[in-house]
Amino acid sequence: MASSPRIALHWQILIGLIAGILVGLAINTMWNAETWASMGIDDPASWIDHTKEPAIENANANPSFIARTALFVHNLNNFVGDLFMRGLRFIAVPIVVFSLIVGASSLNDLAKLRRIGTKTIAIYLATTAIAISVGLLFANIINPGSFVSEETRDGFAAQFGDQAKAKINAAQAPDIWDTVLNIVPKNPFNAIAEGNMLQVVFASLLVGIALTLIKREKATLVISFFDAMTDVIIKVVEIVLIIAPYAVFALIVEQIAQMGLDVLGALAAYCLVVVAGLLTMMLVVYPIGFKLIAGVGYGRFFKAISPAQLLAFSSASSSATLPVTMECCEQRLGIKEEVSSFVLPIGATINMDGTALYQGVAAVFIAQLYDMDLSIAQQLTIVLTATLASIGTAGVPGVGMIMLVIVLQSVGIPLHGIAVILGVDRILDMCRTSCNITGDAMVCAVVASSEGAIESPEQVAARLAHPFDEDPVDKGRLDN
Ligand code: ASP
Repeated sequence: MASSPRIALHWQILIGLIAGILVGLAINTMWNAETWASMGIDDPASWIDHTKEPAIENANANPSFIARTALFVHNLNNFVGDLFMRGLRFIAVPIVVFSLIVGASSLNDLAKLRRIGTKTIAIYLATTAIAISVGLLFANIINPGSFVSEETRDGFAAQFGDQAKAKINAAQAPDIWDTVLNIVPKNPFNAIAEGNMLQVVFASLLVGIALTLIKREKATLVISFFDAMTDVIIKVVEIVLIIAPYAVFALIVEQIAQMGLDVLGALAAYCLVVVAGLLTMMLVVYPIGFKLIAGVGYGRFFKAISPAQLLAFSSASSSATLPVTMECCEQRLGIKEEVSSFVLPIGATINMDGTALYQGVAAVFIAQLYDMDLSIAQQLTIVLTATLASIGTAGVPGVGMIMLVIVLQSVGIPLHGIAVILGVDRILDMCRTSCNITGDAMVCAVVASSEGAIESPEQVAARLAHPFDEDPVDKGRLDN
């Protein structure tokens, strides 16, 4: 069936994103307490919080029609954003289970599995260590701590102190034995139900490997089942993606309207160092790795994974973005499923280059705020602990900051410094998550090309030109 020409999905998402940022900024700057008061709302916080008592009773005066409309639009906006995130979370666990079982079992001999597994983990660790080093380098050269006055620091510490305490309490210093032991679930179904990704990855890999060790005719049956289920889940991804552009708008508006630019301005130097580091990874380090190892043009790569990058940015969750990352790598880049279904779920769980870089910069920044000089040995400790902390970071919003506590503790940097950077964490979370999934996809492409498991641009174009194999991501809708 010929489909009518439409804007490609990544452009639709980008438009949603930019529109959301603009509207969010407009709300943040123009809609204040007086605006609410003029509409008869004295207590805007409880008016818009539908979890509290009936909102109308919280308003002292009679709310106007505009106030009711604003409340409705706000609720609708949150509904669309939450619906999309629910959809993505719905997919995240099944896709890891199904694709890893198929991925591990289709690398049908253990030697191949070991080879690809070793390559994947080695490159993941190397890129993470490089990312932290880039972060540390930038932070040491630019010295973002010197741009923040003591009053600003103390002001933020007072404003965000309580929230920071909650984060600090949430972080537990890992015991290496427990950490490793905890990868093995006591009950795999429990791990699936709770969405404990590291355990889910472990259990799925184990089942996949075991499938290669039993009689082929029996294994084939099970593998075909999971293979078909992977296809089913990919279809669900297409369905969920229909609302992606609206959802991206909804998610961004909320964040920007709440945060505004004030906090961002005060911590501009710190934010710029993190963003410059992330861009260096995405635009310099990965392309070099590509040029040296993979035969894929970086432009082609970047274009192919852009929908996943934009979704990672707006959702701040690599786990939730995983189905789209897989779709982009397989459909748009032509990576064979046997590699992508193995490399990507592991990457979304343990490979967090952006998070590691951010933790390095944040540690040095907080140290600078408190006039602490970090020795080379301390910076090396940061490289080590941030690598481990990023592995332990779950691919959901905000966890990178909780794991930062462990990095700070390892070199004795004051933990309450977290309060200073808390106000800008979400925006940096969005940026680092984009880098996280770019790193996963990059390693996937590198491993695939070293295994000869990636199509040439001509093959991808030919496949996408075929009406029945049309690229579902770009198509962005269902028409069959
Ligand atoms: N949100 C990040 C991710 O999902 C993790 C983090 O750094 O907080 O990849």
